[in-house]
Amino acid sequence: MADRHVAHLLIGGGLASANCARWLREEGADGEILLVGRESDPPYNRPPLTKGYLRGEESREDAYFRPDGWWREQRIELLTRTSVMKLDAAARTATLSTKEVVSYDTALIATGANVRRLPAEGSELDGIHYLRAFGNSDAIRADAAGRRVVLIGGSYIGCEVAASLTAIGAQATIVMMEQVTLERGFGRRAGGWLQQVLERHGVRVVAGDRLARFEGEGGRVAAVVTENGERIAADAVVIGAGVAPDVTLARAAGLELDEEHGGIRCDSRLRTSAPGLFAAGDVASYDSVVHGRRLRVEHWDVAFNQGRTAALNMLGRDQPHDVVPYFFSDLADWASLEYVGPAARWDREVVRGSLEEGAFSVWYLDGGRVAGALSIGRGDDLEEARRLLAARVALDDGELRRLGDPGAELAQIGAR
Ligand SMILES: Cc1cc2nc3c(=O)[nH]c(=O)nc-3n(C[C@H](O)[C@H](O)[C@H](O)COP(=O)(O)OP(=O)(O)OC[C@H]3O[C@@H](n4cnc5c(N)ncnc54)[C@H](O)[C@@H]3O)c2cc1C
Repeated sequence: MADRHVAHLLIGGGLASANCARWLREEGADGEILLVGRESDPPYNRPPLTKGYLRGEESREDAYFRPDGWWREQRIELLTRTSVMKLDAAARTATLSTKEVVSYDTALIATGANVRRLPAEGSELDGIHYLRAFGNSDAIRADAAGRRVVLIGGSYIGCEVAASLTAIGAQATIVMMEQVTLERGFGRRAGGWLQQVLERHGVRVVAGDRLARFEGEGGRVAAVVTENGERIAADAVVIGAGVAPDVTLARAAGLELDEEHGGIRCDSRLRTSAPGLFAAGDVASYDSVVHGRRLRVEHWDVAFNQGRTAALNMLGRDQPHDVVPYFFSDLADWASLEYVGPAARWDREVVRGSLEEGAFSVWYLDGGRVAGALSIGRGDDLEEARRLLAARVALDDGELRRLGDPGAELAQIGAR
């Protein structure tokens, strides 16, 4: 028996849930909305944790999804520091850590992702950090500002944190398996350009190497030792080794999971395998009508937009999730990149603009089709990239030439 009933239950206190709550109200939901989140803060944006918040330029409140009063005004009940412990998808009930049992008409599961931990000798030493929540960002700033910090991983967490900490006086070294930073997402050319930006500002990059172990002194980390035998002195370490979707609750509830991409298996409407239950954000794997394939993407913008799509479908609107995924990243105030995709693979890159002048876009093509595009200072190109990505047409040689010519119009390319 349930202790109480709500129209809409939102599980997870992140951006996907928060934006779902917002859109439920904006689209006319009248019943009770209950959002349950494990963290002590109300829903907030995580990107500042590697950027302005980490550098001490922005406050917690700046990162909040909405100011405190907004939740009351919108009649959205927010339970922080509370977990959903059990979900009975057939009975449509959830048991909270407060022991309360809540029944619902529709629910969203947006439990996000957890950091991937790297097992290595010395991992238990103080001063070794992962980064997901406010508290991690606070601890990293306290340990690393003005000191020697080693970043394990050359993807966006490692690069952004290296840049931000350098900007507040740290000496940063990145250790990564790849040959250039951000190579997996953006290839050698764009990744190499971004690495040069980091190096010009004093970040040292140790490429093609791996963490072997940590060495400590008095219980604190003192050095990182790599597999190639380099010993790098460190007062603090930040590990950015990716994330894994948090499917603990979904698995226990018997929801269908996507073993290939990770996450909860949804259809194009973000419906899970259980009636009335939707998923969104880092935890959702969905059938993309834009790409014609299954996708799971861990980007801020995707969590944000999927929250909206889920809300519309919770209200019975039958709306496919058809937004082209977008990603942004800042290296302090040295460089900002934007990206649409994601390209699962590509066999050709076309550059539009000038790397030397720092204003270019890179187009990732798979069999002549636009699979993704990255912009540094050419944001307008991404609008056309979204169109071409969704059109899924193979460009001919003439069109590819025009793509690479910054003077040529993009609007006619791919128009069939
Ligand atoms: C440091 C950092 C920087 C980032 N920077 C960028 C960026 O620059 N650009 C970009 O595009 N993306 C960025 N991202 C990614 C982006 O923030 C995520 O994609 C987004 O936060 C995902 O939102 P979500 O709501 O799906 O999940 P989350 O934000 O992970 O929220 C899920 C919440 O649910 C809670 N939860 C889990 N299980 C339960 C349960 N059983 N009961 C109750 N609560 C539960 C979790 O504790 C968590 O608070 C960044 C991420 C991080 C960590």
